[in-house]
Amino acid sequence: MTPGELTGVVRSHIVDVADPPCALHTHVVAPFLNLRRAALADGFDLMPASSFRDFARQLAIWNAKYSGATPIYDASGRALEAARLAPAERVTAILQWSALPGASRHHWGTDVDLIDRNAVGAGYRVQLTAAEFTAPGPFAPLAQWLKINAPRFGFFRPYRGVLSGVQPEPWHFSYAPVAEPARQALSAGVLREALGAAGLLGVEYVLERLDELHARYVAGIDWP
Ligand SMILES: [Zn+2]
Repeated sequence: MTPGELTGVVRSHIVDVADPPCALHTHVVAPFLNLRRAALADGFDLMPASSFRDFARQLAIWNAKYSGATPIYDASGRALEAARLAPAERVTAILQWSALPGASRHHWGTDVDLIDRNAVGAGYRVQLTAAEFTAPGPFAPLAQWLKINAPRFGFFRPYRGVLSGVQPEPWHFSYAPVAEPARQALSAGVLREALGAAGLLGVEYVLERLDELHARYVAGIDWP
C-alpha cells in the first residue's frame, strides 16, 4: 500500500461490496466472503458494522471531540467536558476511544467490526460494547464462533487487551496477510506526513509525542 492508502487519505486499494454492504481492500473481499459463508452455514448472519473508514471521516470524529461538539468519554465511559481539559489531556482522552486519524487499521480495508444480524431485531441499535459480546449479550455466540473459526480464514483480533494500547475490542477482526505488511509499512514518518497539513485540531500536541503514539497504537498490537 502507498502512504496515502496506509493513512486512508485515498481509497485506491478499496472496493465497495454490495452484499453485505461494506468497503474492503481488494485482497480482503474473497477471504471475508469465505468467512461469511462459513458463518452463515452455522446460522450467523455475519455483518461488518464498520469496515473501511477514510482519513476525512476519522478527522471529523477527532475534531468534533477536540472542539467539544461531541462528548469525550473517560475509561469508565463517563462524559468529559473538552473545555475543562488542557489540550494535551484532551488528546489523551480522545485516544481512549477513538483512533488518531491516519493511524486507524480501518484505513487499510483489512479490518472489520463484526456482528450477527440474526441475533438482534431490525430495530436493534448496535453499540459495540463488551457486554454485547459476553454472555448473555446477543453477540456472545458469534464471539465464540469467531474465536474458533476466524483463524482458518486468516482473520485475528489485534485488540485483545494484552499488548495493544487499545481497549479490548471483541468485535474487531483483521485479515493478517494484508494487514501485517500494512502495519509494518505505516511508519511514524508516514503518519507525521499525513497529519502535517490535515487540519487536525491539537496537532502540535499530537506531533510532539508522535513516536510514542505510533508505538502504542500502530506498532503495538496483539499478535495473531
Ligand atoms: Zn474496529
